[in-house]
Amino acid sequence: MSTFKAPKGTYDLTPPDSAKYLAVREALSAPLKNSGYGYIETPGFEDVALFSRGVGESTDIVSKEMYTLTTKGGSELALRPEGTASVLRAALEANLHKLGNLPVKLWYSGSYYRYERPQKGRYRHFSQVGAEAIGAEDPALDAELIILADQAYRTLGLQNFRILLNSLGDKECRPVYRDALQEFLRELDLDDDTRRRIDLNPLRVLDDKRPEVQKQLVGAPVLRDYLCDACKAYHEEVRDLLTAAGVVYEDDEKLVRGLDYYTRTTFEFVHDGLGSQSAVGGGGRYDGLSEMIGGPALPSVGWALGVDRTVLALEAEGVELELPSSTSVFAVPLGEEARRVLFAKVTELRRVGVAADFAFGGRGLKGAMKSANRSGARFTVVAGERDLAEGVVQLKDMESGEQQAVALDALVAEVQQKLA
Ligand code: AMP
Repeated sequence: MSTFKAPKGTYDLTPPDSAKYLAVREALSAPLKNSGYGYIETPGFEDVALFSRGVGESTDIVSKEMYTLTTKGGSELALRPEGTASVLRAALEANLHKLGNLPVKLWYSGSYYRYERPQKGRYRHFSQVGAEAIGAEDPALDAELIILADQAYRTLGLQNFRILLNSLGDKECRPVYRDALQEFLRELDLDDDTRRRIDLNPLRVLDDKRPEVQKQLVGAPVLRDYLCDACKAYHEEVRDLLTAAGVVYEDDEKLVRGLDYYTRTTFEFVHDGLGSQSAVGGGGRYDGLSEMIGGPALPSVGWALGVDRTVLALEAEGVELELPSSTSVFAVPLGEEARRVLFAKVTELRRVGVAADFAFGGRGLKGAMKSANRSGARFTVVAGERDLAEGVVQLKDMESGEQQAVALDALVAEVQQKLA
């Protein structure tokens, strides 16, 4: 071990487990690639103001959890705590919304950073796959995203997750509700911190987990009763489309989510095997975000699915992903001459697309065979001086244990045929 360790709240992905993470990332993004979403990549850091304006000054993410830094040139930057604000910023900067092709549908995958109290499922560096559909107000788009996330989790083999769905209203009806809620909350017996929250972000008070707060919230005005007709109709349509697609969801009045930019549709995917960090993914509509960061009106909707927690959810359900072995052929040379000949064969195999590896480091037969076994390769190719003198190599099928001499010249074709 070196003197250094991964920083608190972070962990490394190393083989063989890292293969599972890659497979999960791939599975979470596959339905998007198949549905008209184009890949976007943005920097790992942005102007702090993008997040404080976009995500919201009063949110935990901005007020407590951002990694901020001042550069030598005096710029105030933050490691990105989430993806949506960056993706929208990038889409606006590239004028993607002006190409006459709305909605602009984008997907991404990357690292995010939040200075949170670490615990199982909650890290300071984590990984998300996300999707944003920018510039259209269409309930089918909200439904599409929820359906695609559901499909992603199901193809991975997850079953014990639930979809929570809510509508947060829009700029017409939410302020009316907010006023009513504030009026109700101000009458309650709450600590100073929570009182401040009533002014800044009253909906978040509903999220308070403490029993003494929850007890007082009985009878609080509910948003559903304040939704305007347009929001109500929109939400009904989203629900109908989900039902028609056979996607089961639960209406959850209390789902407000921790980011200020959401309007109308909000949803969360929760997994029941994860304890307190149960949200594996979430998202919603953010019709006002573009204007909040200085862009034109661009109603949009998106989600982000957590890779780390999806892996934990798979483990909680005991789902083993079928990961094909990454190596098909492992070559073991015995002696200098064999080393040169087999190294050339490995190169040749790789060039025709066969995954091949080689016993490096001049170890003995025993150690090299151990590596061959560990590689999971279907075949090993062993060659010593006597084999080479006869112009052959020994091809061993690691599944059946059968071994045969194959002419050196015929090796590549033979292997290709056996693997086909
Ligand atoms: P959010 O942007 O907070 O809605 O997060 C979306 C998803 O990212 C969550 O459902 C989690 O799966 C994942 N996530 C968020 N924060 C963390 C964290 N600190 N550690 C691990 N995963 C996280």
